[in-house]
Amino acid sequence: MNPELEQNQEQIIIIGAGPCGLAAALELQTQGFNPLIIEKRNVVHSISQYPVYMQFFSSPELLEIANVPFTTAHDKPSRLEALNYYRSVALRSGVRINAYETVNSIVRDRRGFTLASTRTSGTSHTYHAKNVVIATGYFDHPNLLGIPGEESEKVSHFFREAHPYTGMNVVIIGGSNSAIDAALELERVGAKVTIVYRGEDYSSSIKPWVLPVIKGKVAKERIHIRFQSKVSEITPTEVYIESAQGTNRIPNDFVLALTGFHPDRKFLGEAGVTMEEEGYPTFNPETMETNVPGIYLAGVVASRHEANEIFIETGRFHGNKITAHLLQKQQSTQTV
Ligand SMILES: Cc1cc2nc3c(=O)[nH]c(=O)nc-3n(C[C@H](O)[C@H](O)[C@H](O)COP(=O)(O)OP(=O)(O)OC[C@H]3O[C@@H](n4cnc5c(N)ncnc54)[C@H](O)[C@@H]3O)c2cc1C
Repeated sequence: MNPELEQNQEQIIIIGAGPCGLAAALELQTQGFNPLIIEKRNVVHSISQYPVYMQFFSSPELLEIANVPFTTAHDKPSRLEALNYYRSVALRSGVRINAYETVNSIVRDRRGFTLASTRTSGTSHTYHAKNVVIATGYFDHPNLLGIPGEESEKVSHFFREAHPYTGMNVVIIGGSNSAIDAALELERVGAKVTIVYRGEDYSSSIKPWVLPVIKGKVAKERIHIRFQSKVSEITPTEVYIESAQGTNRIPNDFVLALTGFHPDRKFLGEAGVTMEEEGYPTFNPETMETNVPGIYLAGVVASRHEANEIFIETGRFHGNKITAHLLQKQQSTQTV
């Protein structure tokens, strides 16, 4: 621990206890640092919000952090197994996590950075940190469609489980794994499902073992899919679907707009991180440090082109780069 540190002064604060923030904290801890994680909900909050019965597409060893083995009953972990794994690793490590505390701002100042936060209990807090790792993910920020009716209560950008949709007319927008998995679950509870997807064929990212299943359901007309189509309007009882053939309307009770997520990078600008022309933050991929010395990115928040370019399999190693860089700074007698 650095003796210069005052009370409420931290050497390293990590914002977000997702798998990548957690992995970064554990690597820092292994190398002798004592990071503090501030998490607005609880450990791996995003995963706890994923579809209840989901299975990861990654095999368990590709999701491991801190070299702790992750073994599962089947070849792919369930959401529950992943929750169990990450929370056990976090608890056993003794890493400091301030849960149910949201960081609202990061401002650069003469002491490094000042972070302002609020706990769910209502209290406000201020921290001073020499280094900040932003690992806030993307799951809170769905890609919106920007069409009339999107704000209505029957539209959701998240899918949890199928039961509430039993027997209903449901339109799913999107063609990724999330959309296809949801369609298959919904069909099993008797929902009448139409997938509306702008691609001209099934997405190449669909899990290979799921592709024949969805194709079979579509061939048997148990699920309908409209390729090269988009929903242009949602009314209380219908949706409007546009394609090269024109616009048509279908009866509808619920819309699941499963069109992906994007990282919220509001902190970055405040703290002086510049954006590249495409709107992505400037950082060194070798160290994960942004153009502001002392501000690092870990996990999905560092995605450049598509949020899906970084996932747990890859983002779990960002902490190693950050730790190596901080050690290097320490060795070169720069204050860390
Ligand atoms: C359905 C689904 C299935 C997936 N399957 C796989 C898979 O099989 N393999 C794989 O590798 N990846 C998979 N992914 C992707 C993977 O889950 C994400 O890449 C991963 O969660 C990213 O981790 P992260 O730590 O960067 O962000 P997140 O997991 O999103 O964590 C960010 C954390 O930051 C917290 N936070 C945000 N803002 C603040 C704030 N202001 N203050 C404090 N805390 C804050 C959030 O509460 C959250 O806990 C899947 C994703 C989905 C949606």
